[in-house]
Amino acid sequence: MRDFDTIAAIATPPGESGVAMIKISGNDAKAIVSEIFKLKNNDVFLNIRPWKMHYGHIVEYDSGEIIDEVVVSYFKAPKSYTAEDVVEITSHGGYTSSRRILDQVLLRGARPAGPGEFTKRAFLNGRIDLAQAEAVIDIINSKTDQSMKTAMAQSQGRLSKEITNIRERLLNMLAFIEVTVDFPEDDLESATAEKVKCDAEEILHKIETLLKTSGEGKIIRDGLRTVIAGKPNVGKSSLLNTLLMETRAIVTDVPGTTRDVIEEYLNLDGIPVILVDTAGIRDTEDIVERIGVDISKQKLSEADLVLFMLDRSRPIDKEDIEILNRLEYARYIVLLNKTDLDDRLEYDHPVLADAIQVSATNGYGITELKRRIKEMFFAGTVKAGEYSVSNDRHKEALIRASESLKDALVALEENMQLDVVSIDLSASWSYLGEITGDTLQEDLIDKIFSDFCVGK
Ligand code: GDP
Ligand code: ZN
Repeated sequence: MRDFDTIAAIATPPGESGVAMIKISGNDAKAIVSEIFKLKNNDVFLNIRPWKMHYGHIVEYDSGEIIDEVVVSYFKAPKSYTAEDVVEITSHGGYTSSRRILDQVLLRGARPAGPGEFTKRAFLNGRIDLAQAEAVIDIINSKTDQSMKTAMAQSQGRLSKEITNIRERLLNMLAFIEVTVDFPEDDLESATAEKVKCDAEEILHKIETLLKTSGEGKIIRDGLRTVIAGKPNVGKSSLLNTLLMETRAIVTDVPGTTRDVIEEYLNLDGIPVILVDTAGIRDTEDIVERIGVDISKQKLSEADLVLFMLDRSRPIDKEDIEILNRLEYARYIVLLNKTDLDDRLEYDHPVLADAIQVSATNGYGITELKRRIKEMFFAGTVKAGEYSVSNDRHKEALIRASESLKDALVALEENMQLDVVSIDLSASWSYLGEITGDTLQEDLIDKIFSDFCVGK
């Protein structure tokens, strides 16, 4: 284990809360706390047993004044979150008292922890690998049960296990080639080439299977970006409201919400959906122009899903048709709204074949809409708890690894020297190692951990 200084932070979210937790990690954790913690039963803190809770008071070091009633747990290295000595102080006085306790801890010699520093130590001390550490970020950020389960599975190392297995096979292949190159014999060489080709194809298949889960994985983590498009007054905002009432809204203050676009998070049976309504631009004068601009090809292709809404109670017009023609650039569902009124659309278009009849105001067809959304994006393939690649960095590394394997296969096809092939194989091995953090530069590691919040 490496030797680091002792760090401390409030691990619970800021603000008033019933309890707060101060976490301290490092060689001096226990000594620091012993100076400000008075046990109820007058035991000496330095002698207490690890992995047990101890009840008492935190006092100000100088005055001896009681700050709060607390429960203190001591986790002895290496059996702790960071693999170092860890002390956790749970206070029940909310923010002010936890802040005061932290101040005392810092005055006694701990240093304020940076974002993600506890988890980074767990990684640097070899307790978890990088994919597991990143899963901790996802658990903190996950917005629904589905994403939580994906993150949990990853944090328990399922993805890492798969990657480690693949890397081991690559290493065996490299060793095999090494032997062949050292003892050159034509027969052996071609036999080896044949075997390496077989293995490389199999591994490539495994990586590609992992990559296939990545689209779904990402969606689970960030939410389906769903744009409600259509002319003014077709019923976009009404649909948003109806969906909000029928599903559980997850958060209201979504970062990135701009004044001209309303974004709401929905929990659609465990699938987080970010619903984007262009309602805010409704009041502007040049609304008709704005729509033309807004539903550009790019906007359509950027969304994970477009809900294109037509008002069925009116004849279709030029603008509607223009948007219909552009839908091929997107994943879309066409909604024919206002089914409670007479049908006056009078139009036939190939994309209308699968349209869903809805009424945004009375809720007709909403169940069907929700069913269709789920069907489109999951097709029953993502099961909770299975590993899926939910992280862009992992995805990129997998793509590079698969490209190197393809290079190796081309080299084999062209009967190149085996040591040329082994360069590609070892590149693939090293890209995969970036996922688990076995081969990764220090600065990249720092960047990854800076995504964490303080206290984790
Ligand atoms: P937006 O401009 O596309 O956001 O449309 P709104 O949601 O603001 O709705 C425009 C008007 O259509 C409002 O008066 C709604 O009450 C009405 N409306 C929306 N959906 C329906 C529906 O299913 N049936 C009927 N009869 N009226 C609707
Ligand atoms: Zn609206």
